[in-house]
Formats: sequence, structure tokens, C-alpha cells
Amino acid sequence: MNFEYSEKSLKLQKKLQEFIAEHIQPIEEEVNAFHANPENSWKRWPGTEDLKHKARAEGLWNLFLPKSYKEFSPGLSNLEYAPLAEQMGRILWSSEVFNCSAPDTGNMEVLAKYGTPEQQEEWLRPLLDGKIRSAFLMTEPEVASSDATNIETSIMADGDEYVINGRKWWSSGAMDPNCKLTIVMGKTDFDAPRHQQQGMILVPIDTPGLEVLRPLPVFGYNDSPEGHADIQMTNVRVPKGNLLLGEGRGFEIAQGRLGPGRIHHCMRLIGMAQRSLEIMAQRTIDRKPFGRTLDTFSSVRQDIAKSACEIEQTRLLVLSAADKMDRVGNKEAKDLIAMIKIVAPNMALAIIDRAIQILGGKGVCNDTPLAHFYAAARMLRLADGPDEVHMSQLGKSIIKKYTQSL
Ligand SMILES: Cc1cc2nc3c(=O)[nH]c(=O)nc-3n(C[C@H](O)[C@H](O)[C@H](O)COP(=O)(O)OP(=O)(O)OC[C@H]3O[C@@H](n4cnc5c(N)ncnc54)[C@H](O)[C@@H]3O)c2cc1C
Repeated sequence: MNFEYSEKSLKLQKKLQEFIAEHIQPIEEEVNAFHANPENSWKRWPGTEDLKHKARAEGLWNLFLPKSYKEFSPGLSNLEYAPLAEQMGRILWSSEVFNCSAPDTGNMEVLAKYGTPEQQEEWLRPLLDGKIRSAFLMTEPEVASSDATNIETSIMADGDEYVINGRKWWSSGAMDPNCKLTIVMGKTDFDAPRHQQQGMILVPIDTPGLEVLRPLPVFGYNDSPEGHADIQMTNVRVPKGNLLLGEGRGFEIAQGRLGPGRIHHCMRLIGMAQRSLEIMAQRTIDRKPFGRTLDTFSSVRQDIAKSACEIEQTRLLVLSAADKMDRVGNKEAKDLIAMIKIVAPNMALAIIDRAIQILGGKGVCNDTPLAHFYAAARMLRLADGPDEVHMSQLGKSIIKKYTQSL
């Protein structure tokens, strides 16, 4: 394993750092304040498109897209992309500036990997151009969706069309006024074997019968403009050509989609944790309880030392997963992907929590990014599969490994 970054990655890291320092950091508070204002809910900050144009002109665009889709992006491996995603994770809304934000990244990979030329022309092209955004609709309020075989939305053939009925929630991105496409997972055959009942279908968000019922806040944050939507679909009709890959292939697509998405979240979590560490370290020299500055207290130094160790451990674990994905593919790297999905959100939460404690009251209001980081890291113990599901799969795989020769 060689964790030396390539020349290409190092150049992009420098460029990205400079871009963030020049164009994003100076307006971070202004953009946060815009989105925190209830009058601006589900409106896009007016400077977003201009920033996106600048980033694209610098070649900082679609950095997440792996080597095989070279024509659209610099063609980075996961290992090359990891430090770039970490940089973006330091500011929650910054990924979109580089067209690297979830759930669009996962949806673009699905379209690039499984879409027909027609589907790619209609949807992948505008997504790669950053002209539209998208949502991924799998989770349902009525069933335990951590087991995706439970989902009940139906996708039934009727003449030249499919008819879709069901309720979805936690559809991230669906509140954005630029969201034009949803990828819906449902069942095409309720009687087929358990993992062949599902299909995935492209549903434009303005299709009659698709109704956004309400936005769902995360600990009070509405995450505008993307948001997380509760959606009802009643007799939604789309052409048959909108089905991805084929009836019964939905599970296969879901598995392919979640590997890269998970590692991207973990990379960003490292950025959040690293910035939290920096914020807490900087605070220690300013505050003086009981006659001496915080940096001289042993417990504070221990919190900072533990945090630095945990970030570096997780960073190396994520790089190891990225390296394995690059060398032998996502399927072979599944145990390492499960490990990072368990470790990274919990690591980030512990560090953000320590930072909040060291900052005192300042840590829980919105004068620093810590409170929003906490909400974002906490939800990532659930989104893309709860901890327990990854632990169950990882445990099973490890037991198999050490018992198959017995
Ligand atoms: C902010 C946010 C954004 C999201 N974005 C999206 C999105 O864009 N698209 C989408 O489709 N979904 C999205 N989700 C949904 C997310 O993926 C689900 O919430 C998650 O998969 C869990 O499903 P569930 O909520 O139905 O929980 P359930 O399936 O009801 O599970 C509840 C709990 O049961 C426990 N549990 C489950 N399995 C096991 C097990 N094997 N062993 C022990 N305990 C277990 C876990 O503690 C789990 O948290 C998002 C969620 C959040 C909070």
C-alpha cells in the first residue's frame, strides 16, 4: 500500500485549497446566514452559479468521477480524490460548488454505469454540467428501510408505461428548486426471489402524481436549499424506457451505488473532524478559566491529543479502503467500506462533541460550524445504512473468513 499522493492529486489539492481560501471561506458566514433565514428556505444563494462557473474554469469539477469516465472529469482514483473530498467536508455546502455533492454524485455514477445512451443524454449530461440536481428515493416511512427488501412502492408495467405508487421520505435534495430528477427504487415483481423484486426508475420530479408533502428537518436544520423531503407518489406514469437496467435489477444497482457514496461521506467527515480539532485547539489559548488558559489543562490536552490520533487513524483507514476499491473493485473492498462507514461518523461525532465542550456555550450556537457538523455527523450514523447493519454484515463476513476452512 502506497499512500503517497500522485502529482495530479497534489496539484489539485493545492488548487482546491487556494480556491476555497479565496472564494469560499470569505463568504461562508454570509451563505450560512442566507440559508438560516426562514424567508430563504428552498431558495438558492444567488452567487452559487457564479462560484460553480469559476470552479469549473479552474478544472475543479466532477472530481469524484472515477477514472473510467475520463471525458467528464480529471479522472481521479478514489485515493486521489480522498484528500480533495476532505477539504470540501470542512464547509458543509462547498461540495456543490465543485459538482461533488450527494446525492447527485451517486446518481451520476448510476447513470454513467447503468444508463442507456438516451437516459445519459437526457439526465447525465445536465447533471455533469451542474445544470440540474437530483434525489434518490429508497427509504419509506411505513417499513424498516434499513432492510431495502422491505420497501413497498410498486412499479407496475401498463402498456408503454410504468405506474408508480408509494410513499418515500428522507429524499435528500428533493426540495432544491434545481432538482429535476428522482431515481425511485420500488418493486417490479412482489413474487420474485427476495433480491430480484426491485427495480429503479427515472422519474422527473414534475411528473403528475408526484407530490412533495413536506420538508424534514434534521435536529432543526432544514439543510436548505437541498433539504430532505417526504414524498407521495400516486399513479405516477413514466415511459417504459425510464427503467434502469431492467426489472428485478434494482438491488444490484443499489449495491453499486452505495460503495462510492459511503466513502465520499467518510472523506468529508474527516474534513469536519479536522476542522473541529483546529477550532478547539485555537480556542484553548483564548479562554482563561481559574486563572490559566485552557491549553495548560491536562484534560484539554488529552482531548486534543485523542482527537488528533482518532482523525489520523480514520484517515488511514479511509485511504486503505480507497486504495482497495481502486485496485480490486468495490465488491472486494466491501469489508473496508463497512469499517469506515462504522468508524468515520462515530469518530467525527466524538471529536465535534469534545470541541463543543471546550468551546462552552459558543459551541452549541451557530457562531461556529460545530452544531451543524454535529447534526450532519449524527445523521450519517443512519443514512446509507445504520451502524448496526454494517456491523452485522462485517461481523458475518469476518466470521465466514475465519471459519470457512474449519
Ligand atoms: C438526514 C437523512 C438523509 C437521508 N437521505 C436519504 C436519501 O437521500 N434517500 C433515501 O432513500 N434515504 C435517505 N435516508 C434514509 C436512511 O438511509 C434511513 O433512515 C436508514 O437506512 C434507516 O432506515 P429507517 O429509517 O427505515 O430505519 P429502520 O430500518 O426502521 O431501522 C431503525 C433502527 O433499527 C436498528 N437496526 C436495523 N437493522 C439492524 C440490525 N441488523 N441489527 C441491529 N439493529 C438494527 C438500527 O438502530 C436502526 O437505526 C436519509 C436519512 C437521514 C436521517
